[in-house]
Amino acid sequence: MMEEMLWFVFVSIGLHFGMVCLLSGFYGFIDHFSLFQDSKFQKKSGHSNPNLTDCVVVLFKNIFIYDLIGLPIIYLALKQRVTFTGPFPTWPEILVHIPLCVIVEDTLFYWIHRLLHTPFLYKHLHKMHHQFHQPIALSFQYTHPIENFMTAGIPLFAGPLLLGSHVYTVWLWMCVRITESMDGHSGYDLWFMPFRYFPFRPGAQVHDYHHSHNVGNYGSFFTLWDKLCGTDHSFKAYKKN
Ligand SMILES: [Zn+2]
Ligand SMILES: [Zn+2]
Repeated sequence: MMEEMLWFVFVSIGLHFGMVCLLSGFYGFIDHFSLFQDSKFQKKSGHSNPNLTDCVVVLFKNIFIYDLIGLPIIYLALKQRVTFTGPFPTWPEILVHIPLCVIVEDTLFYWIHRLLHTPFLYKHLHKMHHQFHQPIALSFQYTHPIENFMTAGIPLFAGPLLLGSHVYTVWLWMCVRITESMDGHSGYDLWFMPFRYFPFRPGAQVHDYHHSHNVGNYGSFFTLWDKLCGTDHSFKAYKKN
């Protein structure tokens, strides 16, 4: 069991780090060479952000220190339902499990994120993430470690736990979630990102607006809960103008 836990922890950290390198390289590349400028919706507006070094230090702490602490706890929870051995899961199983994980994640993320905007939790946890008024892809995990566990850990692993997914599905789903989150903070609305075609998601601008105006838009993949709870009114008015 110890060996299996270490394997889960280190493969997860490796994938987490690998996806961050790959996607930050991609967004850095298109930014440096001014590619896809028609898809870049962030305007230079004098918004203040933490500096890049601070951002990378916090992100690396979340990957290499807090993942190392949190993932063994997550492993013990997943162990109750998730399959860690046996053959690769079938594609039909993966194609059913991942959309269900998206729905579970978005629902939990919406309510946890909304909770983080209550005065006490905002002041002590979530305010740090909102120091980015104009987010960049790397700022997706510029978060307090407790918030990181609440918004990146619990919603991510709840779906596989409920469904009893295979660990390979868990890792694939983790890569999808990291891609969506970095895309949502990137400032680009790229036509080839599948997330922009999801129902109830008018593009990457939704979370960007949440950072620049700090009001409403608490969802991750969709805006369904925002629509149902009326927390998208401000964004709708902004889009009309
Ligand atoms: Zn927020
Ligand atoms: Zn954010």
